[in-house]
Formats: sequence, structure tokens, C-alpha cells
Amino acid sequence: MQELTHYINGAHVKGQSGRFADVYNPATGEVQARVPLANAEELAFAVDVAKDAQPGWAAVNPQRRARVLMKFVDLLNRDMDKLAEALSREHGKTLPDAKGDVQRGLEVVEYCIGAPQMLKGEFTDGAGPGIDIYSMRQPLGVTAGITPFNFPAMIPMWMFAPAIACGNAFILKPSERDPSVPLMLAELMEEAGLPKGILQVVNGDKEAVDAIIAHPDIQSIGFVGSTPIAEYIYGNGCAAGKRVQCFGGAKNHMIIMPDADMDQAADALVGAGYGAAGERCMAISVAVPVGDETADRLIEKLVPRIEKLKIGPYTAGDDVDYGPLVTREAKERVLGLVNSGIEQGAKLVVDGRDFTLQGYENGFFVGPHLFDHVTPDMDIYKTEIFGPVLSTVRAGSYEEALKLAMDHEYGNGTAIFTRDGDTARDFAHRINIGMVGINVPIPVPLAYHTFGGWKKSAFGDLNQHGPDAFRFYTRTKTVTARWPSGIKEGGEFHFKAMD
Ligand code: NAD
Repeated sequence: MQELTHYINGAHVKGQSGRFADVYNPATGEVQARVPLANAEELAFAVDVAKDAQPGWAAVNPQRRARVLMKFVDLLNRDMDKLAEALSREHGKTLPDAKGDVQRGLEVVEYCIGAPQMLKGEFTDGAGPGIDIYSMRQPLGVTAGITPFNFPAMIPMWMFAPAIACGNAFILKPSERDPSVPLMLAELMEEAGLPKGILQVVNGDKEAVDAIIAHPDIQSIGFVGSTPIAEYIYGNGCAAGKRVQCFGGAKNHMIIMPDADMDQAADALVGAGYGAAGERCMAISVAVPVGDETADRLIEKLVPRIEKLKIGPYTAGDDVDYGPLVTREAKERVLGLVNSGIEQGAKLVVDGRDFTLQGYENGFFVGPHLFDHVTPDMDIYKTEIFGPVLSTVRAGSYEEALKLAMDHEYGNGTAIFTRDGDTARDFAHRINIGMVGINVPIPVPLAYHTFGGWKKSAFGDLNQHGPDAFRFYTRTKTVTARWPSGIKEGGEFHFKAMD
């Protein structure tokens, strides 16, 4: 069996702790590799390497640093197929989806090539007699990021591209479920010209995360994952005096107004609800049709579309709609929630519980589920299911639908489908959710805007990518300078040329 490594100081390093986690092929259910789980000493070694390397990297001018990212983009494109294959093999998502995962990260790298522009400071000429004030953005030093399983290429790039463009060293602790692509990305960054020790991968679980929180030389932590872990890392990381941003779970509502194009809304819901087997933080998991007539029309359109979905391994071709869930536990958890929905009185309109795939009986596949008549007190409504399960909550009016989404504890993304501009504008203005789609089901902002939810979906002040990333990965220093040649006795201005 393949034994994966850490990537420290420009080399693949075997685990020393003696602890490992199994890495599965979710389509077959087989263990295909094991990944070492770092202890505090291994993490501390990577921090020492990063501390030595970082000042030299910060001294490289921003344009030259950006050129490394430029080259990295070329290498990502060169190796796109290889990266996508490795990603699908460990995560389970289809190859087109895996390429999308790499592509969305690549776009953040492209944005970060503009770092010299973003890192320019501010200058006030003549703030007083002979006095100028200027501010500069300086890197933090050694930074760290902890990432989830569901986007093993994109989310690490969201973090390390801006961190490194700003002159920091970055230690990545990827998900232990699919660590191969993060390791490949670190190799590619060095092939692109990044000095050793600036991007390192330390694999691990809670022990490595706790070591990151406790290490005094790590200046900042970026986290993306589930809300309980986001809260834990945010609280403890801040208490340890670090700069921390943590992004958590979601329960994204899509409101369907009676005037919406119902075919367009149904197509959007099927893509956003079941794509990537629902394992997206921006997946739509709750459909909220306004009025019973809208609900009946929507369900009628949804059912045949859902029944046509093709589920299979990534090797089965590009017409597969979605693959298996990431682990057996994830599958059991999703099916447990489906059963709770039935017990608590929701109507299961499409039942995927008996789904099996010939030749892949041990894979972690789950058929698609559609619930109708879900109510806010049910567990399937309150909980992030993270599987191919769409719940329909019928609302009597627009105000009721709006209130429903606003009262949910999560606030990552939401969407409204309508032809009425006034309703759409009102929704976008009033909703307490970070990312809003108008006739767009998954409103993930492009790299040059920022990404982030509200409420229990994000903790911290700044979002991912866009201009916020440059604020997160730098600190501002402001210099006030006075030069005697600008001052005449008595404090008045004089100019040498006029003497
Ligand atoms: P997770 O919280 O289980 O794991 C995320 C990271 O935290 C991993 O690196 C893991 O090793 C580490 N971790 C796990 N348990 C820990 C513990 N007890 N202490 C310290 N660290 C621990 O999340 P996941 O299952 O990998 O990813 C799915 C979750 O991520 C979903 O909730 C999804 O909504 C969320 N997510 C959010 C966003 C966003 O931008 N808001 C994006 C993608 C995924």
C-alpha cells in the first residue's frame, strides 16, 4: 500500500509519529494509501524551516514573487489531467468537477499575480511642516492553513497563493481524507521557482491542528471546514494571540417565486443540490417555493430530472452527474438523517436509499433524495447533511420565505429565482447571508471579489481571496517622518529653491 509523506523543506518526509490514517478510494471502498499524522515535534520542525526561509522570501521584490505564481499557473495547466485524476481517486468527485476544483484555485493564483498592485502602501506628502506619512504592508511571517476534504485543490490555493504572494511562509495542514493533491501542489510551486520551506505540507488530524494553535511562531491561521471545528479553532487561535479566519458549514436556501421560470429553477436546483453529491458548502440543500401551486409545479419538474441523474465512479466517463461520498461514515450519517426525516414526518418524494451500483457494491454511493413538506423543527432542516438530499419547505408568502432563510443559524449562500427585479433587489438588500444569487443557484464570487458567509458560517473579520486576502496576510506599518530641510525656524515652511 502506498505510504504518503509530509512535504517539508523541499522534500518528501516520512511520518515520525507512528500514527496514520487510511485514505480510501470512495468508489470501491478500498483503502488505497495511508497518510502520516504529524505530532507537535514534526510540526515544530516545519515551523523552524519556515522561519529560516521566510525573511529571504520577503526580501524578494513583489514582482519576482508574482512571477513564481505565473509559472505555477502554467504548471497547473500542464498537469491538469494528472491533478484531476489524483483528486477524483481520493475524493470521488467526477473528473470535470475535479478540474473545476483545480481551475477555481488557479483563478485565485492568477488574481494574486497582481500582488505588487495590492501591496502598494499609502503616502501623504506634507502632512505637517517637513512631515510625510506613509504606510506599508508587510508580511506576517509564518502562516498556516487547515483545509477540508471537499475542495482539496481550490481551498489550499485560496490560502497559500495570497500568503506567499505577500512574502509569508505557509504551512498547509490538508484534510487527511484526500492529501495527495495538496502534496502535488507544493511540489509544483517549487518547480515554479519557490524557495524550499516557503510552502510546506504537514499532514495530520486534531493533534497537528492543536500544535498549530499552540505554536508561538505561527502568526495566523486560516481554516475552512465544519462549524464546530471552525468555532474551536477561532476561539483557541484568537486566545493564543493569532490572527484567525475560520469558515464553517452551511444550509443554503433557494427561494422560488411563483413568477420564476420553473424549468430554469428545476435545472438549477438539480445541479446545485446534487452536484458533487451535495458535498459543497455552497450546495443548495433547501428549496423554498412560495405558494402551494409553485411547490406542486416545482416538484413535478424536479422528480423526472432527479430520477435521470447518473451516479458512478469518476472512471465511468464525463456524463456521470455525481460520484460517491467521501467515506463510509459520511454515507451512514446521510442515510441516518434521511431516516430521521421520514420518522419526523417529511414526505420522501424521491428515495435513493436502496441505490447500488453493480461492480461497486462497497463504494460509498448514495442515491438522490428529495423531501417535500419539511418543517423547520426537523433535523434534516436544522442540520447540514452534506449529501445528495434536497429538502423542500413550502412558504406561504415571500416574507415567510425570507424570514425562514434569515432565521437559520447558517448564512453562507442563498439564491432567489424570480422575474421580478423589485423582489430580487429587496431580497439581496435584506437577507443576512454572505453570498446571494439572483437566478444563480451557486453564487460563488470570482477570485477578485471576496468569498465568505455570515452567522455560523464564518468567524473573523476578513473574507477569503479578493482584496481581503491581502489584508489578512499582511500587517500595516505607518511611518511618520520629518526632515529638517523642510522646516524654517519657528516652524514655518520654506523651500530650498526659494532661499
Ligand atoms: P472538518 O471540519 O471535519 O475538517 C476540516 C479540517 O479540520 C480538516 O483538516 C481536519 O483534519 C480538521 N479537523 C477535523 N476534526 C478536528 C478536530 N476535532 N480538531 C481540530 N481539527 C480537526 O470538515 P470536512 O468534513 O473536511 O469538510 C466539510 C465541511 O467543510 C462542511 O461543513 C462544509 O460546509 C465546510 N466547508 C465550508 C466552506 C466555506 O467556505 N464556508 C468551504 C468548504 C467546506
